[in-house]
Formats: sequence, structure tokens, C-alpha cells
Amino acid sequence: MSIEKNLNRDMAIKGEKMSAWEKYIREVEPYTPGEQPNIEGMVKLNTNECPYPPAPGVFDAVKNFDCDRMRLYPHPDAGPLTKAIADYHAVDYDNVFVGVGSDDVLGMAFLTFFNSELPVLFPNITYSFYDVWAILFKIPYKQIPLKKDFTIDTEDYKIPNGGIVIANPNAPTGEELKTSQLENIISDNPDSVVIVDEAYVDFGCESMVKFIDKYDNLLVVRTYSKSRAMAGVRIGYALGNKKLIAALKSVKFAYNSYTISQISVDVGVAALKDEEYFKTIVNRIINTRENAKKRLTELGFKCTDSKTNFIFATHISERAKDIFEYLKTKNVFVRYFNKPLIDNYLRISIGTDEEMDILYRELENYFKI
Ligand code: PMP
Repeated sequence: MSIEKNLNRDMAIKGEKMSAWEKYIREVEPYTPGEQPNIEGMVKLNTNECPYPPAPGVFDAVKNFDCDRMRLYPHPDAGPLTKAIADYHAVDYDNVFVGVGSDDVLGMAFLTFFNSELPVLFPNITYSFYDVWAILFKIPYKQIPLKKDFTIDTEDYKIPNGGIVIANPNAPTGEELKTSQLENIISDNPDSVVIVDEAYVDFGCESMVKFIDKYDNLLVVRTYSKSRAMAGVRIGYALGNKKLIAALKSVKFAYNSYTISQISVDVGVAALKDEEYFKTIVNRIINTRENAKKRLTELGFKCTDSKTNFIFATHISERAKDIFEYLKTKNVFVRYFNKPLIDNYLRISIGTDEEMDILYRELENYFKI
């Protein structure tokens, strides 16, 4: 329901009249993030956060932060962080754009690149912020149905369009599209910017970063929220050719210059210095995920071939919504989307092995196994 309709309804309930200015309020249906309950002993598997702490160097960066620097505005480009990200990916400084989480980067990218009359294309089942941004920025869009098995047919993206967005691996399905298939989409659409959202790529997918020189219409978006265990800090970034990055920066600087705080810059730099820790937690999550696929299959679930830090699963006999509600009563939080085609699925973030054991135990209780 639109804001206007909401207001009308709320006012009618209260018996109030709508003010004239209220009809000029921008109508938008906001994105609904997963709940952030704060219950002692809860098992939180609903927002794809990392169950492990950030790298030890991040703790040191916070301890050593000179609070006097808070007086000063941060570098508008998040300079040292931009440089650290560029070095990490072996690209130039001008190939990197840093934002407040990848949501900020993606939103900026929609605003910057999707200004044609033609629809922007993305799958019908994907990250549910894409259509929110399209509506917010009044961008026409077309949702392309996934195949029955939740995979993408690249042939479907050979239609006139004003841009393309693909999450790889996709969310909430977890399914991977091979880089060669993504290359087909990018080379079939040289007149459009193709955004590849790699929020979950570190959990077993191949990245498209190596192709940013080859394709001038490719923008790769990454985040610190999942594999770097820093969702609370809000760092995301885009990698692309210099023209794309310059365009993103001019839109960003036309809106808000100082988005990345001093302390975010420091912790963001520190996180990239510990590759060994990064690989350890990512591998641990991958192992837990593969084990979860087995355990959940034994419990009667059918899981997609997720390459992310979550499982997407439907049960052969029990309704997803009922399982979701039951788990909630046990303080085990998973995600349920009341949306066509996926309303009998659960998205279960990968927790620690101990947290996953609690999940399996509660499911066994529910199924009376
Ligand atoms: N892309 C996808 C596919 C996601 O699932 C998320 C997490 N909700 C994001 C982007 C945004 O993540 P963040 O803003 O925390 O970087």
C-alpha cells in the first residue's frame, strides 16, 4: 500500500482531514529488513550476518582510534580506505567507489546509471531492494522470471533495456551464475550498465572483478557486511572503470559528501590486512553451510545449491510459515518472505556450528523426530 493510501487510511481512522501538502509526499513502499530482536540466548539466523567477530586488527583499530580526529570532517573520498580496497583488488584508486554499505552504493548506482526510458532488468526473485530503488527513483523496470529451478536464463536478458542488475550469487535463492554466463549478459548489452551485486561472492563463487577493464559497462558491488563480519559498520564499495566511478562520485557529491566516518575508514583498512583470518572464517562458514544442507535434507528439506552464507529451503510436507513461527517461539530467528513463488521457503543464515545444532534440535522437536 502506498504512503498516500496509508495516510488516508490512518487519517480516516482518526477522523482527521488530509492536509494539502500531504499529497506531494513521495509515495514509496519501503524495503523490509529482517527483524533485529535482542533476546538473551536467541539464535539469530535471519539477516545473513557473520556469526564470527571481525578480524583482530579491527579491534586494535578501534582501541587506537584518536578521538580528537572526530573534530574533523573525514576525507570525502574515504581516501585511505579507497586506497586499501584498490590495493587489495589490484586496481587503481579511480576504479573504486566507497559507500555506506552496499545498499548505499547500489542506490547511488541506480540513481547514476539508470536514466533511460527503457526498463531496468533484474530477476523476479532477487534482492528485494532493487524494485524499491526503481520505484523511489521513478525508474521503469521489468522483472525477468527465473527458471523453475531458480536459475537465470541469460537469453532472457537480450531485450532492450536501460540497465541490468544481477546479484551473484543470487539472494535469497543462493544460486550462482557462472562468470562466462555473466560475460554473455554484459557483452550482449554494451549500451547498458550491468551491475553485478557480489554481496555473497566470497562464500564460493567466482568474482567478476577481473573483468572491469575488459567491459566498460560492468560495475561490481561488494560489501563488508557478510564475509568481513562488519554489517554494523556499514561499508560497501563498487569497482568499475574510471568513467563509471567518476559518474558515481559526481552523483554522490551532489547529494552528501562526508558519508564514511573517520572510524569506518580505519576499521575498513584494518579488516583488509588479515587475509588469513578472512579465509578462516569464510571457510568455516562454507563448511557449516555444506553440513547444513545435509542435515536439513535429512530433516525433509529441499535446499537450493546455495553458494552464500545462507540456505534457502522448502520442506516436503510442512509449511515454511508454520516452521518459521514455531522457531520464533523458541527464539530461533530465520527469514520468511510472504511473496509469490517463495512463500513456502525459509532463508536460514549460517550461524556457528553450535547455533546450527540448536536449529536442528528445534526442528527435530517440531517434526517430532
Ligand atoms: N545485496 C544483497 C544481495 C544483499 O542481500 C544485501 C544485504 N541485505 C545487500 C546487498 C546490502 O548489504 P549491505 O548494505 O549491508 O552492504
